[in-house]
Amino acid sequence: MTKGLLIVVSGPSGAGKGTLCKELIRRNNEIELSISCTTRDPRGKEVDGVNYYFISTEEFESRIENNDFLEYAQVYGNYYGTPKWKVLELIDKGVDVILEIDIQGALKVKEEYPDGVFVFVLPPSLQELKERITSRGTDSKDAIIKRMDCAYEELSYAFKYDYAIVNDYVESAVDKIEAIITAEENKANRQ
Ligand code: 5GP
Repeated sequence: MTKGLLIVVSGPSGAGKGTLCKELIRRNNEIELSISCTTRDPRGKEVDGVNYYFISTEEFESRIENNDFLEYAQVYGNYYGTPKWKVLELIDKGVDVILEIDIQGALKVKEEYPDGVFVFVLPPSLQELKERITSRGTDSKDAIIKRMDCAYEELSYAFKYDYAIVNDYVESAVDKIEAIITAEENKANRQ
């Protein structure tokens, strides 16, 4: 049986990768979105087990010890990690799985799973990126400055990915991700 694809969607915070992944899943309910663990507090209407598994730092560190993560990283002072076993089980069953993760995490996955499909999401401009981060209204001024500083540096990693797409309009950006997935599935079926 052909294995599912491990699709990593990454890019700077505010590039809109979360929105793209949600729309991609809405359109293709056979694709699974991996739910990450994090030690940050829930924001707004976020629900445990839906947006993230919200766990304590102690619990997270014990899971690191148990080798439970496919990758993990510290982002803006909190841990974020991808639960390993669920993802690998789905891929073995032939299901495509999407990881929406930061760049450090994506590069770690690339070392271990070079067969994955790595998609970098670019904002249309830095001004637009700042507006998106600010307009979420969920981050403090300090957090916004931290995220923007990080974003400048992170944009330089785009060349390490298989694909880079500009998120100017959600619908057309998702069309592009779908085209990438179709092309990669065809490639995998030919092997
Ligand atoms: P937020 O706090 O805004 O939900 O996420 C902050 C950043 O952490 C985003 O860039 C998001 O993609 C990233 N992130 C979410 N889950 C994971 C994960 O499991 N691993 C890594 N490395 N980054 C993650």
